[in-house]
Amino acid sequence: MQKRIIILNQKGGVGKTTTSVNLSASLALLGKKVLLIDIDPQGNSTSSFGIDKRKVNPNIYDVLLEREKIENTILPTGIENLFLAPSNISLAGARIELVNLSNREKRLKDAISGLLSYDYIFIDPPPSLGILTLNGLLASFSIIIPIMISYYALEGLVELLEMIKRVKKSFNPSFSIEGVLITMFNSRTRLSYEIFEEVKKHFKDKLYKTIIPNNIRLAEAPSYGKPAILYDKASKGALSYFELAKEIIEQNI
Ligand code: ATP
Ligand code: MG
Repeated sequence: MQKRIIILNQKGGVGKTTTSVNLSASLALLGKKVLLIDIDPQGNSTSSFGIDKRKVNPNIYDVLLEREKIENTILPTGIENLFLAPSNISLAGARIELVNLSNREKRLKDAISGLLSYDYIFIDPPPSLGILTLNGLLASFSIIIPIMISYYALEGLVELLEMIKRVKKSFNPSFSIEGVLITMFNSRTRLSYEIFEEVKKHFKDKLYKTIIPNNIRLAEAPSYGKPAILYDKASKGALSYFELAKEIIEQNI
C-alpha cells in the first residue's frame, strides 16, 4: 500500500525540508521508490538536490493551476529510485490565484491520484497553514510532525492538532499521525531532555525511537546539492535519517 506523507509543522525552520530530503534519500537507498513533492515557494527541497530552482519549468505551480500534469514536472535526483516534483518562487503567486478557483484545496490530491508506482510520496510544505499546506494535507494519508527541540518546541502544536482534526472530520476520516520526530537534539543540554520528556508525554507511542541530533553535516549538505547520506554517509546526521527510514519500513510491515 502506497504511503502519502506530509512532513508538517507550521513553525519555520524545524527541519521539515531536511527530513523530507534525507528520509526520502534513505528510503530510496533501501530500495523503495520515492517521490518528494516540494510545495514550498522557497524551493529548499528542490535546491537540496543541486537543482537550479530558477530553471524548474514546469513545476508544482503549473500543476496547481492545472496547466500541466505532475508527471511532466518530475525530475531525477541523482539517486536511483528517488524523484522530485520541484517548486520555486512562482508558487508564491498560486496562493492568491487559487483563491477564486474551484476545488482549490484538492488540486494536489487530484494531480497525484494516478501516481501509483511509488512506494512513498512525501510532501514538503511551507511554514504556514495556508492554501498550499492545505493542498498538501488533503493529498496525504498521514503526517510526520518534526519537532525541533527548543524552548518554543511545543508552541503552535495545538493549532496543528486542531487542523489535523478538521482534515479528518471534513475530508479524510482515516488521516492519521504517522509519527512525531525529534529534530536538532542537543545531547549536551538539560533543556533538550526536558522538552523530550514533554513531547513523549504528549505523543506517547507516536514518537519515533530514532532521534535526529543537531549535526552540522545535515546543515552543510544542501549547499553541496546532496542529501547528507551522499555528502557524508558516516555522519551522525546521515545515519540518524537512515535509522529513521528503517524504523518506518519496519512499522509498515
Ligand atoms: P522552513 O519552515 O523555512 O521550510 P524547515 O522546517 O524546512 O524550514 P529546515 O530547512 O530543514 O527547516 O532546517 C532549518 C535549518 O536548520 C536549515 O539551515 C537546516 O540546514 C538546519 N538543520 C535542519 N536539521 C538540522 C540538524 N538536525 N542539525 C543541524 N542543522 C539542521
Ligand atoms: Mg522547508
